[in-house]
Amino acid sequence: MKYEAVIGLEVHVQLKTKSKMFTRAPYYYGAPPNTLTDPVVLGLPGTLPVMNKEAVHKSAKVGLIFGSQIAEVCKWDRKNYFYPDSPKGYQISQFDQPICIGGAVEIELPGPSRNVMGEHRSVRLTRAHLEEDVGKLTHGLGESLVDFNRAGAPLLEIVTEPDMHTSEEAFAFLTSLRMHMVYAGISDCDMEKGQMRCDANVSIRPAGTMELGTKVEIKNLNTISGVRNGIDYEIKRQIRCIEEGEAIVQETRRWDAEKSRTTSMRSKEMSHDYRYFPDPDLMPVKLSKETVEGLRSELPEFPYDKQRRFLEQYSLPFTITSVLCPDRELSDYFEAAVAIYNNAKSIANLIANDLLRELAEAGSHGSLPLSECKVKPEHIAGLVKLIDEGIISKQIAQDVFIQMFKTGHAADVIVREQGLEQTSDTSELEALCRDIITNNPKPVEEFKGGNEKAINALKGQVMKRTQGKANPKVVDDVLKSLILN
Ligand code: ADP
Ligand code: MG
Repeated sequence: MKYEAVIGLEVHVQLKTKSKMFTRAPYYYGAPPNTLTDPVVLGLPGTLPVMNKEAVHKSAKVGLIFGSQIAEVCKWDRKNYFYPDSPKGYQISQFDQPICIGGAVEIELPGPSRNVMGEHRSVRLTRAHLEEDVGKLTHGLGESLVDFNRAGAPLLEIVTEPDMHTSEEAFAFLTSLRMHMVYAGISDCDMEKGQMRCDANVSIRPAGTMELGTKVEIKNLNTISGVRNGIDYEIKRQIRCIEEGEAIVQETRRWDAEKSRTTSMRSKEMSHDYRYFPDPDLMPVKLSKETVEGLRSELPEFPYDKQRRFLEQYSLPFTITSVLCPDRELSDYFEAAVAIYNNAKSIANLIANDLLRELAEAGSHGSLPLSECKVKPEHIAGLVKLIDEGIISKQIAQDVFIQMFKTGHAADVIVREQGLEQTSDTSELEALCRDIITNNPKPVEEFKGGNEKAINALKGQVMKRTQGKANPKVVDDVLKSLILN
């Protein structure tokens, strides 16, 4: 029997706001434990929550990006449970009136090769609701520690329909979600920093049937590889269960990355009763049409739309667009350079190859951010212009680029100061070519004998003697005419 897996994801995204969801206390990653708290975060008696408008606006933007319906009124509910990561004994969340309803995320599946765009399809969203994050527990030997820094940070929970069938699709979904969030400045979605966390619901059914099987929820998928491996493991485990005649029980399982397996956490019977009720301390939120339209007008062009435009407008190869477009700053940088000098292909190549290589080498933790790079779009444009005008060779341009990267000087300044202009002066090159022809009879004979490639050995000598400054086209012409006449 062949089986088909069915996957639905619940993704928590930490919103990028200065302060927490219901208080002024700031939140950012990496502060010493328990330094980002205040009486509201700690749930001390007498405190009252005050809603963070920016978090509500960012959440509504998420809905606008994915075509969800934005609730005209959404309310706040208390989700009650007692656990040491939650100082109040409840979490403020949205139960039956989430801020975003429906919508869909465009995803891209890998193509047949890296050079070809893969299939695009959409994964439907069920809803997205806003809530506050909880603290972080660290369990050690004989003691457990709690850090409330994260407690109260704004968290958007995005729930998908059971629309995916492979770990690859789940991965593509998370990739697309993250790309859109980062583009619109909603969240940095860095999984390593806990800014994007994912639970996966997995079931299997006989291939070709429609009815959903019993689902298992996998928690703790906090790395991209964890999502892939956890889902793949779970699909295999469920198929094995069914084939051995065991029933799948609805349960929550934990992904153990060290042991590469899922283990049972709790069954459906043991699931919490959260006793949701409306939070009496908070008013429902109304979002007017004007507010929503104002937020819509702030949205950037979306990455896949931009990629389709780049393919068409600039006729760039797919591989280059898939380097430029997922990164909003980089693609803006490219367009800024093209606006100054119109040679999209050469500019894109320089950015995708030379610039990214230098940024990667210059960074201490990952690449140097583009904002800290001394090479600005006008520098790239200037360099490409010098190549196109035949003032420097492509070979010299590589060195000039590295110098621009180090100094932030313009290409023409570097070229002028160091006398790097290529020599196209035929008479100057003729003397040199003549000399090289006399001293290298072997390749000359081979060329005369019909081996076209033999000329490259001579060209290489000329380039070497001129330190790369000779115009290769001119050298080619001069050599050929000297040998053949
Ligand atoms: P629960 O009530 O257990 O939280 P929901 O119906 O709210 O379940 O669904 C939670 C997530 O599980 C959603 O992402 C949904 O798409 C997914 N899901 C629901 N049923 C299945 C199933 N049979 N197989 C896989 N995923 C499922
Ligand atoms: Mg649910």
